[in-house]
Amino acid sequence: MIRSATVFLASALLLSSCVPEGRPEMESARANAGPPVVVPTPRPSPSPTPAPPPAEPVRTGFWFEGPMQQGALLTGRVPSGTRMLTFEGEAVDIGEDGFFIIGLDRDSKAEVRLVATLNDGRTVERTLNVAPGDWKLEYINAPYRAGVSSEAFKARRGPELARIVAARDVDVVSDGWRQDFIWPVTGRQSGFFGSQRVYQGKPGSYHGGADIAVPTGTIFVAPADGVVTLAAKDDFTLEGKLIIIDHGMGLNSAFLHASEILVNEGDRVKQGQPIGKVGQSGRATGPHLHWGLKWKDARIDPLLVAGPPSG
Ligand SMILES: [Zn+2]
Repeated sequence: MIRSATVFLASALLLSSCVPEGRPEMESARANAGPPVVVPTPRPSPSPTPAPPPAEPVRTGFWFEGPMQQGALLTGRVPSGTRMLTFEGEAVDIGEDGFFIIGLDRDSKAEVRLVATLNDGRTVERTLNVAPGDWKLEYINAPYRAGVSSEAFKARRGPELARIVAARDVDVVSDGWRQDFIWPVTGRQSGFFGSQRVYQGKPGSYHGGADIAVPTGTIFVAPADGVVTLAAKDDFTLEGKLIIIDHGMGLNSAFLHASEILVNEGDRVKQGQPIGKVGQSGRATGPHLHWGLKWKDARIDPLLVAGPPSG
């Protein structure tokens, strides 16, 4: 995904002149004395000041890249002179070069609307048609039963959820959102984003991330640049050892079930930097990394952002 402004630099072509460098008067004098001696003269060195880039054409409409389907993350660019952008009525941040991202939730409406308000007060609107996601649904012929939580669980869960919400609310400045995301670890995908069990017609909650099954101790890395907003080194009840990284513009990653965390809250991490080791802490049936991606409140499918994970 191209997340940065492409700047087309005009190549400074210096056309050297093709005027012969010989000396005609000497040549005539030596007319019968063999070939003339040509003294090379130094060529002018290229100008140190490159030609300025051509002015960017005015963008009259929106530009988008990415699949228009549930669970996808889109990169967009606003029309020139946009001072405010809304997505479904909510303000969306825009980079200085006009680029932005929007996440299409796993259960996004079939039509969503963007409105750019220009400096002169005019508005440019765009409606996107969102294709339904292809989620793995499993139909269970048994009644849905809500799990009964113990008092001890409930007492721990409240503060844990508060820390997760607080970590996702942190607004950091990072250009990670502009990068091509990589998988934190590669291997067999054992759990798919959006998969859901349906109990005699009643849907249970869906799986909010991608699971990669690799042995305990396998290093996993940051999928893009960002800032660590949560590094829970004591196990959370469900997530176990949990890391949240904010990639800027409301996009963040969560990594669950680690056996070890290699970063601290507030750390700035680079794409590809080791951040933890895979494990099965919290509620997990075997060692794996669960990677969840969220843009604001929208849950995003890592597979649609980073491509297939094996490799
Ligand atoms: Zn999972």
